[in-house]
Amino acid sequence: MRWSLNELYDSFESEAYKSDSKRILEMISEVNTFAEKELTNTGEAKEKAEKYLRYDATLSKLMSKVLSYASLTMAVDARNEVAKANYARIAMKLSELTKAEVLFSRFVAGIENLQEVIDSSEYLKEHEFMLKEIRKNARYLLSNEEEMLISRMSNTGSKAWTNLQNILTSTLLVDIELDGEKKKLPLPAIRNLAYDKDPDVRKKAFEAELSAYEKVEESSAAALNGIKGEVLTVSELRGFSHPLEETLLQSRMEKETLDAMFTAIKESLPMFRKYLKRKAELLGHKKGLPFYDLFAPMGESQMHFTYEEAMDYIVKNFNTFSRRLGDYARNAYEKNWMDVEPRDGKRGGAFCSNLHAIGESRVMANFDGSFSNMTTLAHELGHGYHGYNLKDETILNSSYPMPIAETASIFCETIVVNAALKEMDDREAVTILEQSISDATQVIVDIYSRYLFETKLFETRKDHPLSVKELKNYMVEAQKEAYGEGLDEEVLHPYMWLNKTHYYSADRNFYNFPYAFGLLFSKGLYAVYLKRGEEFVPEYDELLSVTGKKDIIEVAEMMNIDVTRPDFFRDSLKIVEKDIEKFLSLTEK
Ligand SMILES: [Zn+2]
Repeated sequence: MRWSLNELYDSFESEAYKSDSKRILEMISEVNTFAEKELTNTGEAKEKAEKYLRYDATLSKLMSKVLSYASLTMAVDARNEVAKANYARIAMKLSELTKAEVLFSRFVAGIENLQEVIDSSEYLKEHEFMLKEIRKNARYLLSNEEEMLISRMSNTGSKAWTNLQNILTSTLLVDIELDGEKKKLPLPAIRNLAYDKDPDVRKKAFEAELSAYEKVEESSAAALNGIKGEVLTVSELRGFSHPLEETLLQSRMEKETLDAMFTAIKESLPMFRKYLKRKAELLGHKKGLPFYDLFAPMGESQMHFTYEEAMDYIVKNFNTFSRRLGDYARNAYEKNWMDVEPRDGKRGGAFCSNLHAIGESRVMANFDGSFSNMTTLAHELGHGYHGYNLKDETILNSSYPMPIAETASIFCETIVVNAALKEMDDREAVTILEQSISDATQVIVDIYSRYLFETKLFETRKDHPLSVKELKNYMVEAQKEAYGEGLDEEVLHPYMWLNKTHYYSADRNFYNFPYAFGLLFSKGLYAVYLKRGEEFVPEYDELLSVTGKKDIIEVAEMMNIDVTRPDFFRDSLKIVEKDIEKFLSLTEK
């Protein structure tokens, strides 16, 4: 139940680890010297571009090995000081690469016959997408001096605000009385009580959470105004019409696609509200669901797995999709790529880390034997399978944008959940279905409310810093518009702007719509699979393998999917609708 990291390094003291870390530091200064000397003019463009990309590839490979070794070690052993120190030492050096990166961007943008240069070299051809993307994005670069200044000032500007907000929320203790005992709990523990079986606990936790926020609302608002203010200033200087434009560019996504998606999402809201109202009724509420019962568990799953059984179940069902997928999961299990044993000092939750440098991946989870834990393993193995399909691409072509990052993971999760739903009785099915609809409600309806809120936030911040009252009002307005009569409008959550960390990161603006896109894209692909069966499989693998070197429209086109029109998203939402209809009919009486 524990993973092996020996495939990366034997230890931090090993010769291999030491020499790789040393090499990274040497190469950073080498590449900066090279960039300063050679990349200031476009003579011998082909040779210089090749040389820089080779530096970049080698460095990326070394850094991913060294940093992954440290971060994976820390993930299962938070108190490992050696790992922490090693990680910090290398991570700190990364910002020094900005210089070479900016110079290379400007260099590529300055090559007049870029296509010709690319065509003259096999190596450059392989990285055509990357080079063209660099050129496209270079028009938003400021002068070298301005870039350096912004990057340094942000350490004492937006990043300092982010830090302050982290401190405020991570040290906030919430007063609550549970089982007649007065307690002070940290915020994450209080928010977890939203999943408690006891309705009283859920309500109490919600009220305690809201009143705790009053202690930090003014300072959090100041942080948020500081961060969003800086974002507006910098994005205007760069020539973006709106911060959303910048996120779309990073996401390799067109505005047209975003609009098409939201058109379909808006149409689907009434069906989500039907589900929410039914859930409210089942829990004894008459005016829609109060916010504190959004995550209330419905029934209890009786399904239980040992780790071995869970993996057998996953491999068996992955095999119905393809042997290649099944073999991938079996291999991950047999080769000890997974660390699933909960233990002291290990991080909570689950994640997958794709180690392109060695063509493997590692999955971390805290497995307790429940059904939802089994599906988490399937989800994370899906991320791993995505990485597996990218392993023959060069490392520079192996990173994909956020909106398609969840494609393979949700796909794999869907495979096992659908298989399970076929086997279980109605009572069990209600629990599993409800969980999956509740997840979709968050990713579609709640995400829509966050998008509306952030839009309003930027619009207002352009004019003036927002007061706490304005922030609370806009949040409640956004929730009303998204959830409608599905939620009890007297029990909404006016402080969601305070606890979602994405709002407080200057380079993650509108970090909401990519989640909705990810879910709908994956569901849509699954629908295509159901229609086309076996012949879909190799095309799906091929699609995953090019996600690092195509934009979203092109990736979707490989399956004849047009993401610039609402129809595709409508079809994906129909899959959720079917689940909701089934849930409604199962809970009729
Ligand atoms: Zn995921």
